[in-house]
Amino acid sequence: MQKRILITGAAGFLGSHLCDRFVKEGMHVIGMDNLITGDLKNIEHLFKLKNFEFYHHDVTKFVFVPGDLHYILHFASPASPIDYLKIPIQTLKVSSLGTHNVLGLARVKKARVLVASTSEVYGDPVVHPQTEEYWGNVNPVGPRGCYDEAKRFMEALTMAYNNAHGLETRIIRIFNTYGPRMRLNDGRVLPAFIGQALRGEDLTMFGDGSQTRSFCYVDDLVEGIYRLLMSDYIYPVNIGNPDEITIKEFGEEILKLTGANQKLISKPLPKDDPKQRRPDISKAREILGWEPKVKRAEGLKITYEYFKSLTQDELFKTEHRQFS
Ligand code: UDP
Repeated sequence: MQKRILITGAAGFLGSHLCDRFVKEGMHVIGMDNLITGDLKNIEHLFKLKNFEFYHHDVTKFVFVPGDLHYILHFASPASPIDYLKIPIQTLKVSSLGTHNVLGLARVKKARVLVASTSEVYGDPVVHPQTEEYWGNVNPVGPRGCYDEAKRFMEALTMAYNNAHGLETRIIRIFNTYGPRMRLNDGRVLPAFIGQALRGEDLTMFGDGSQTRSFCYVDDLVEGIYRLLMSDYIYPVNIGNPDEITIKEFGEEILKLTGANQKLISKPLPKDDPKQRRPDISKAREILGWEPKVKRAEGLKITYEYFKSLTQDELFKTEHRQFS
């Protein structure tokens, strides 16, 4: 029997790659998105398929999906600091009310749910690299609080449904991920740097660039998600690439990759910007037999090709979309 899967946030960066993957797996994919930060362009190639359908719906409102559902992936959420600042309340709602709706739906359908949590649950971490056992260092009332705390609540609610109702649940903690279909103007460092390089602008490095991140290519992440969904492990699992780099070095890599003549310029470091981030992926290795395969040089090349293929209009449309 063909399995049916609901993917929330389907028109977003990660959601759209997940739709591709599960369509390829032969499942019937139901994508859902309210299109606040997602873009139909990311999934328009799927609309012609028989095993794909799309609901333009806000998951914070009551969710109805007719027929059987075997799996649900909850990936709806703004996911960049610029978005949290612009739409903090939607950010809080989608991981709290939205997660509640998704879990309720899963219960009715007897579906297995995987929720997308984040390395942000570790806040500005004092334990390095971050293991799943670390409880984090989060400022609830800072600019990232609406995202970090909503995701922490989402994890708690998901565990509660597992405990109280025996619901089959999975929790992934996603570290910085990149690849084609990232939104050019979402403020994240990779689209910011590549966009600036392509427009002939200097690259805006926040602070002195000594803060670190570890970037995972999207195909590796999707493989990790697939394996976690198919596993029977209910506790959070870090998925990310442990190859850590400072933002300054990252900027230099982008300048080299794009051949841009510009330089890195320093801008003020945003409040509560984590100083270091690198996943400990021992659990993913042990439980899922997973580790990233794509080297940064390779992944960046593919991503750069994607951004180069955007129209001049898209490239220069730097203002943020209007949120309703
Ligand atoms: N960053 C930067 N210049 C930019 C955008 C971001 O130097 O134009 C820095 C940011 O301060 C952070 C890192 O790059 O230290 C990663 O930022 P991003 O927003 O991509 O992700 P997150 O902070 O959520 O990991």
